Amino acid sequence: MVKGETSGLGWDEETITNTMLVEVPPLVKVVPFTRPQEGGDKRLKEHGAGMGADWLWWWVGDDGASFGMLVQAKRLKKDKNEEWLIDFGYKSGKQWQDLHATADVLQVAPSYALYLGSPNYRKPVGCGVKNHPSDYEQCDRCIRKSVSFYPSVLADGIGTDPKVAYEQSIPMESLADPQADTETPRAQKWTYGLTPELKEFMTSEAAGVPQAVAKQLVSKARERRSLQFDLMEENLTDQISEDFVFESLPLDRGHLSAPYFLQILRGLRRTPPGYVLNVLNGDSPVGLDTTKLAGLVVVSAGSFN
Ligand SMILES: [Zn+2]
Repeated sequence: MVKGETSGLGWDEETITNTMLVEVPPLVKVVPFTRPQEGGDKRLKEHGAGMGADWLWWWVGDDGASFGMLVQAKRLKKDKNEEWLIDFGYKSGKQWQDLHATADVLQVAPSYALYLGSPNYRKPVGCGVKNHPSDYEQCDRCIRKSVSFYPSVLADGIGTDPKVAYEQSIPMESLADPQADTETPRAQKWTYGLTPELKEFMTSEAAGVPQAVAKQLVSKARERRSLQFDLMEENLTDQISEDFVFESLPLDRGHLSAPYFLQILRGLRRTPPGYVLNVLNGDSPVGLDTTKLAGLVVVSAGSFN
């Protein structure tokens, strides 16, 4: 992103995604869904499946526990007055619809990856640490925030403000840290909608990397929800099948666009889906041919050791 800025060539989501994904193998497995591979499948041609812009990420723990999320990249732009812009296209844009329709089919958590440029690009907006260095390139947190995750359920209302999105997004480099304490005191006090097993999940240290990622994303949604003081009339839960870590999840949503526990934590499974096992075994993923994806990224716990 810095090179794009200084060269005058600029940068876009696809370039940055590719730049990151070519660097991570073999520790992280990357399976792009390219056009030639899909040429033989008539359904793909008819529905345009397989040619989406979103990447399906799976985090797989040593014990098989896994977390799936569908990731759409969104860059921070600035207008001629240096005002920040992030085009989430909430509920109107085709990209928004593709992200949510595909995440629903795959039963994973939809999330944005915010490409935020260099710390100097974001100046004068700081990352929020106290006694911020005047040289933004010397701030570790600012550097970490260059790529940050933001659950799509938050990109709604106040959350479409790019400065709110920036503040509430999770640096990619911190996303998988089981020791990261993500719940703010406000969110910790907000117990509405928490079943005993969810309370245990939210308050104890994550058992592994997949749980840590799931927990960080849902913590951000809980934090936003805690700012909306209304309670739902009924605290309904949605029953889901046995492969999911949580047998049922609360439908609490407040003013958010979707029930946040369900939309994020449905991605948490006891075992990875078959197409992830295919990739871990060095085979092509099977069963994704009706979905619209740019490709698949599999991060297994061994990558961190
Ligand atoms: Zn900073």
